Amino acid sequence: MLNSKRLTVIADYVSQGARVADIGSDHALLPVELVRRGTSPSAVAGEVNDGPLEAARKGIAAAGFNDVIEARKGNGLEVLQPGEVDTVTIAGMGGALIVTILEAGRLAGKLEGVSQLVLQPNVGEELVREWLLEHGWYLAEEAILEEDGKYYEVMNAIRQPSGDADNKILYGGEPPLIGLGGEASRKLKLSMGPWLLQSRGEVFAAKWRSEIRKLRRIEAQMAQSELDEAKERREAFSREIATIEEVLACTPTDIS
Ligand code: SAM
Repeated sequence: MLNSKRLTVIADYVSQGARVADIGSDHALLPVELVRRGTSPSAVAGEVNDGPLEAARKGIAAAGFNDVIEARKGNGLEVLQPGEVDTVTIAGMGGALIVTILEAGRLAGKLEGVSQLVLQPNVGEELVREWLLEHGWYLAEEAILEEDGKYYEVMNAIRQPSGDADNKILYGGEPPLIGLGGEASRKLKLSMGPWLLQSRGEVFAAKWRSEIRKLRRIEAQMAQSELDEAKERREAFSREIATIEEVLACTPTDIS
């Protein structure tokens, strides 16, 4: 059993029967859990650093899965052969790094044959959603959770022939979100998550209330500067805060 709500949500998204590669696997908790559950018949635990690679090897051996889970050293998706796995999971890193890994892997053909990406950026979620959108990966589901005082978003993206068309509907949003125009509405969905925006549960509201508090603190610091640039940035922050407040204020049925 996993002792982490975050990793449990990620594991729950992985398709039954999927051969999985967990990139940046550290202790290999996720691949071990997927094999233990019977979700995955085999797995690769990719690690770029020696310490975590060793931890992964130990975790795999302790679980008795040396025959089905292989720890490999390498940067991102370079540890994979095209067609070797069905699902790639990348969790616990910043969104910018996840995008760098995905893009390098895509260009090297490492995503060929991969039909599912389960991603959990710690920050920069909008960068990951944008990459998925640009490359025709349909964001089928997303979840938000709180663990140890931190908020985490988990994305389940699948490759399907109608991916672009489905994403167009998902991000198009007619009628426009809370009165925003098409592009502003798309940006808001990339930042807050199109599905999370629809359901707007308690954790979602708590995360964004906490973001508002952070933005207000920055806004207050900027208020002390006389520079025009600071004034402009403060106004941008104020607009951002107002938009988030508007989202939190309206009921789920107001947004499509
Ligand atoms: N995925 C685990 C989780 O979610 O609990 C571990 C997350 S840990 C914070 C991030 C791990 O990613 C580290 O062990 C680090 O060595 C590894 N990592 C960072 N960049 C990487 C890359 N380019 N390729 C493979 N692993 C990487």
